[in-house]
Order: sequence, then structure tokens, then C-alpha cells
Amino acid sequence: MAKVKDEGFGPSTKCVHIGSEPDPAWGAIVPPIYQTTTYAVPSVTELIARYSHKKVGFTYTSTGNPTQRAAEVKIAALEGGEDAAVFSAGMAAITSAITSLVTHGDEVLAPRELYGETFHFFHLLEEKMGIKIHFFDTANVDKAEELINERTKLLYLETPTNPTLKLVDIARGAEIAKKHGVTTILDNTFASPLNQAGLALGVDVVVESATKSLSGHHQAVCGVAVSTNERIRAIKSTRGLYGQTLDPFAAWLLLMGMQTMALRVERQNSNALTLAQYLEKHPKIRKVHYPGLASHPQHALARKQMRGFGGLLAFEVEGGLDEVTRMFDHLKLVKLATSLGGVDTIATIPSISTHGDLSPEEKARMEITQTLVRASVGIEDFGDLRRDFEEALSFV
Ligand SMILES: *Cc1c(COP(=O)(O)O)cnc(C)c1O
Repeated sequence: MAKVKDEGFGPSTKCVHIGSEPDPAWGAIVPPIYQTTTYAVPSVTELIARYSHKKVGFTYTSTGNPTQRAAEVKIAALEGGEDAAVFSAGMAAITSAITSLVTHGDEVLAPRELYGETFHFFHLLEEKMGIKIHFFDTANVDKAEELINERTKLLYLETPTNPTLKLVDIARGAEIAKKHGVTTILDNTFASPLNQAGLALGVDVVVESATKSLSGHHQAVCGVAVSTNERIRAIKSTRGLYGQTLDPFAAWLLLMGMQTMALRVERQNSNALTLAQYLEKHPKIRKVHYPGLASHPQHALARKQMRGFGGLLAFEVEGGLDEVTRMFDHLKLVKLATSLGGVDTIATIPSISTHGDLSPEEKARMEITQTLVRASVGIEDFGDLRRDFEEALSFV
């Protein structure tokens, strides 16, 4: 059966068709779950060919599996990269991508605002592996250039940031890095490949927590890395060493989730923008952080580097923790939960959860006030979401 080749398809067509051809055995439209750890090889010649990578074929699921492969082909097409690797978690993709690149004595540049576990991983690299990390102000990637020296190996980027949706100028960062022979990695989780094309903006490797928008239903923990064939080969060999393979069933859940991603992300973009505009005018809300609002200090950059502004927003409720608690007590559709990018709207309070360990100074610098709420907007009908917030906020 002819494999579907990407002929410059739009994102929705890619989501549905690339990597999801009918199964060659019986023509099953839904790709089967290859729940196997190993593969019978028909001959010794074939064994040699597979192990020397002269021929595509699977030998052991820790290094590759047809269900994983289907997900990898789809995500590579969506990010516009040559190849992709799937992982057992977003952090697995991030740690493998970074350690496939840096070694003892190297230096790394990263924005001050980073996903918490990534920040802790950089600390681990510094303390245990002798890799120096320099942080620059998230909104000022030009400052990163002053920190580059001959030992600098990696410029790590993440945008929009968690939880206050600040932006890093991706194209500018990639331009600076290229000039100095530094490799760039972008964590594209918050935007998703449909809203932000990291590779097209000049980044070398895109990593994502596929637990979020890619799988999209809060149903699977997984991660992806997308880059050139050569870099993905190196990243996959690190993945094997760390034992970060993705279970075939989780790979299948990811594959199924990605088929509807274009529709989901479109609805999340419009729901989040409309909710941000509604909350910005609400008397009980002090401030809204959303890249799609004209009031966002980097709105011009958002328009330049994002195709849609994403499903994440943050807002400050008037009052203190009692007032926020009253709002959450009265929300019916919106759940108090961590994570993001799924079909249901969920929200959390970073100051006492994901960012609870930060010092008061760090919280102040990152604008994480006690009443800051981070919401991941789902695909519900907007009128129902607005009513849920309207009623809950009437108790504040
Ligand atoms: C969730 C998340 C991660 C980590 O992904 P896991 O799948 O939980 O390991 C990394 N970066 C960002 C921006 C995230 O939101």
C-alpha cells in the first residue's frame, strides 16, 4: 500500500493522515498496538542488516516499535522536522536531548523562567556533571549573547513560560546561537507545534511534553524530540541508555490523540482568547497574562512568532487566598488540577503548588502572587465556561 507522503498538507490533514496509514496486514484503519517487546527476524542476513541500520526493521521495543514509529512520523511532519523520537515523558525527551549534546566542562544558557523540573535538571548538571548554567532574563534574549564564550554549547529556550506566559524571542535566540556555533533546543510544550514552528524559526531541536497538547486528553504521559536525522539518531541512543522508551500502548494513545489536535488547538486558542478578554474586564480580576491580549507587554512578539496564542492563561483574583478558594469552591466545570493542553479546562494556584518552593523574591520577580491562577483552557462551549467563571467569581 502506498505510504502517504506529506505533499505540503495543512496541519489538520497531517494530524489525520501522516503516520496513520491502514495497517499492511489487514487494512485496519486504526493502526494496531504492537504490544510486543521483540521481533522474529527472518534470517541472519536480515539480522545483520537491521543491526547495522542498513535496513529499516525492529529488533527490540526499547530501541524501536511500529506503534512508536507511527507517532514519530506524525510528530515529525507536524513540527516540520526530518525525524522525531518519542519518550516515556516530556522530561525524558528534555534530559536525553540535553545530555546527548553537553559534556563535562561545557556551558549552557537558559532563560530564568523555566519549567520547574527542567530548572532542577540544570542544577543537577551543574552540581554533578560540571556543566555551568548561565541564566538570562526571559524577555531579553539579546543578553544571552554577552554570556557566550568558547565553552558555550547550548542555548536552551522555553516560550511561553510557566506560569505567567512571558515570551522568549525564538528567531533572535537562534540567530545569536548560530553566529557563535551554539546549538539551540526549544521546549515547545506551551504553544504546541500548531501555534509555534520552532524549527522554521531557526531552532535545532524541538522538545515537547506530549503529555499535554499532543496527546490532548490527560490520558498518557509521553514526550517527543524533533530534529534532523543525525541529531535524532544521537538522541535515540541516549534514550536507550536511560531506558526512556515509550510503551506501545501509550504511543498508541498519543497517536490517537494527535489525530484531532488541529481541531482541539483551534478551539483552545479561541476559548482562551475570549476568556482572557472576558476576565480582563471583570471587576474581581486584577490582571490577566495572555500573549493574545494587546495588554501583554510582548504582544508584538507573540504576533510575530506564534500562529495562535495557545490555551494557557494566568490571572490574578482580587483579594487573598480566601477569595481564590471561594472561586475554586464554586467552579463546576473547571477542575482544580495540574497539567495542561487537555480537552477539559483545568486550573491551579502556582504560588502554593508548582511554584511553592520559590523564595518570596523569586515569586515577586516572576509575578507569581498568592492569588495568581493558571488556567489551561479546554474545548468546551465558551458560553458554558464563561457562566462557570461568572458564577464562581460572584462569590469572591
Ligand atoms: C509538563 C511539562 C514538561 C514535563 O513533561 P512531563 O511529560 O510531565 O515529563 C516540560 N516542559 C513543560 C513546559 C511542561 O509543561
